[in-house]
Amino acid sequence: MRADSHGLLSEDGSKATLVVLGTGFAAFSLIKEIDVDAYEVTVVSPRNHFLFTPLLPSTTVGTIEFRSIIEPIRTARERIQFYQAWCTDIDIQKRTIQCQHALDKTMFILPYDILVIAVGATNNTYGIPGVEQNALFLKELADARAIRQRIIECFERASIPELSEERRKRLLHFLIVGGGPTGIEFAAEMHDFLVEDLREIFPSLIDDVRITILEAAEHILSTFDATLSAYTIKHFERQKIEVLTKSGVVKVDAEQVFLQDGSTVPYGLLIWSTGIGSTLLVQSLAVLKDKHARIVVDQYLRIQGFTNLYALGDCATFHDRMLPATAQVAQQEGRYVARALNRLAKGKQLEPFRYKDWGMLAYIGSHRALADLAAVKGRGFATWLFWRSVYLTRLVSFKNKILVVLDWMKTLIFGRDISRF
Ligand SMILES: Cc1cc2nc3c(=O)[nH]c(=O)nc-3n(C[C@H](O)[C@H](O)[C@H](O)COP(=O)(O)OP(=O)(O)OC[C@H]3O[C@@H](n4cnc5c(N)ncnc54)[C@H](O)[C@@H]3O)c2cc1C
Repeated sequence: MRADSHGLLSEDGSKATLVVLGTGFAAFSLIKEIDVDAYEVTVVSPRNHFLFTPLLPSTTVGTIEFRSIIEPIRTARERIQFYQAWCTDIDIQKRTIQCQHALDKTMFILPYDILVIAVGATNNTYGIPGVEQNALFLKELADARAIRQRIIECFERASIPELSEERRKRLLHFLIVGGGPTGIEFAAEMHDFLVEDLREIFPSLIDDVRITILEAAEHILSTFDATLSAYTIKHFERQKIEVLTKSGVVKVDAEQVFLQDGSTVPYGLLIWSTGIGSTLLVQSLAVLKDKHARIVVDQYLRIQGFTNLYALGDCATFHDRMLPATAQVAQQEGRYVARALNRLAKGKQLEPFRYKDWGMLAYIGSHRALADLAAVKGRGFATWLFWRSVYLTRLVSFKNKILVVLDWMKTLIFGRDISRF
């Protein structure tokens, strides 16, 4: 490749082809900023939309509707080519990728001059038997839809007359494995659904409902300041959300989880949220990776040893430091690579990536949130208002912002919908 006044050129003199894998936080922010006059941009992802995951827990109970937090990739940016497909293999020597269409499974090959790998991560089950078959995850919109459906099913089934008490209590036990931000936020949303809507709709069942969080480590929210983690425990005690720490799960079946100490916990709905692992594509790549199988990149987010291969977001890590697997890291990396490629196309020098930590937020239910910022450790009602305003400003389109505000108002006025279809 070489640069001229029109940008980076391929060996044959045409505009350089930039292929981006993924439509998540990293890829989306890159696509938004890349100079489409300088590159032929092709995006490959099995998901034809961007998903704003920080508000995904709110969709599991209907506080926010599913379509309010997604943005179709085809309308997000003009003059990009999109294929709804999985990248199944990368031939680094030939500079081609192999893809499988997500809908009709057709295989095809695409050439690239520059490749950006932003394929995120998968749910980590640590190989614990029965998790994959019986638990629900919370990563994609389809997961949130399945959870919402299952919650309503549990209540409808539990209201069958002459059901044994044991079976009713099992159906109404909402069990979350993993005390990180995602598990905590789901528990908080489930609690709000219970006290604001289900209590009135199913008054005879409400005393049998339980929400429990199982955490293998000593503390929940271990990435947050210890005072905020302790505050959450106290807050959950008042909400009657049970938190069991040092409770490692060793096996799961269709009705109960088996703990390390030999005890069992029956459940009606099981959410598994214990961390992330690497995707099959990343596992298959013969490039340098760390012990968590994340691709090792240099200070320009280029894969070690290559100048035309980039990796960013949850699937990448730096050789000298590890950044958290969060949306803000992925977003900043995507924006950085777009600007770096735009600079390269103009023949300018690259500057290394610098990460700015904006802090962490989490919703803990009953109009209370946590904010772990460098300057302040906020919690409570005012922090909840801050939490809502931050996410509102971070949503990626004006349409999303309007829809989310309308959803919040709709929930406040009419409550959450419990129809099953
Ligand atoms: C419920 C939930 C709540 C969260 N809340 C927060 C929060 O409040 N704050 C925060 O900072 N972070 C949060 N996160 C974490 C954040 O979502 C991730 O860190 C972020 O999405 C990582 O961005 P990414 O672009 O690397 O991956 P992703 O956003 O996961 O995107 C990966 C993309 O790659 C695509 N893909 C996968 N395999 C292939 C393949 N083989 N070929 C082509 N494309 C492929 C996927 O379809 C997807 O489009 C949350 C995550 C979840 C699940």
